[in-house]
Amino acid sequence: MSNPKLISACLLGINCRYDGKSKPCQKAIDLAKKEDLIPVCPEQLGGLPTPRIPQEIQKDGRVLNKNNEDVTANFKRGAEETLKIAKILGVKEFIAKSKSPSCGYGKTYDGTFTDTLVKGNGVTVDLLLKNNIKVITEEDL
Ligand code: SF4
Repeated sequence: MSNPKLISACLLGINCRYDGKSKPCQKAIDLAKKEDLIPVCPEQLGGLPTPRIPQEIQKDGRVLNKNNEDVTANFKRGAEETLKIAKILGVKEFIAKSKSPSCGYGKTYDGTFTDTLVKGNGVTVDLLLKNNIKVITEEDL
């Protein structure tokens, strides 16, 4: 495998999102035919079920779901497992699903479940960036 990249699995049509669906991105699907893309879903890797209750990062950094349950530990575990995959395979880049509390890059929802965006990164993207892994989103393809 040469220069493998991680990609948010939902972008390739894998039904791993909170609503049990995916967010297929045709450019990402086309890219998967030419490059070595490794699909990951940090929230599933963190032990969360699919479907699951929507979650957002709060101002204090915790991640709560819409029922006010704290899922921060799952998000951290998912980020660490994703980083582990990146390290094992020598991955240097992550193609991330924008705006997600795990995979979002540059902007995420503000924690109020009102579709309001704020500056910030998802929990997994934050950890990958700290480990010198480049991040782009499907909007950059
Ligand atoms: Fe997609 Fe990432 Fe959310 Fe999983 S955690 S559904 S890969 S955006």
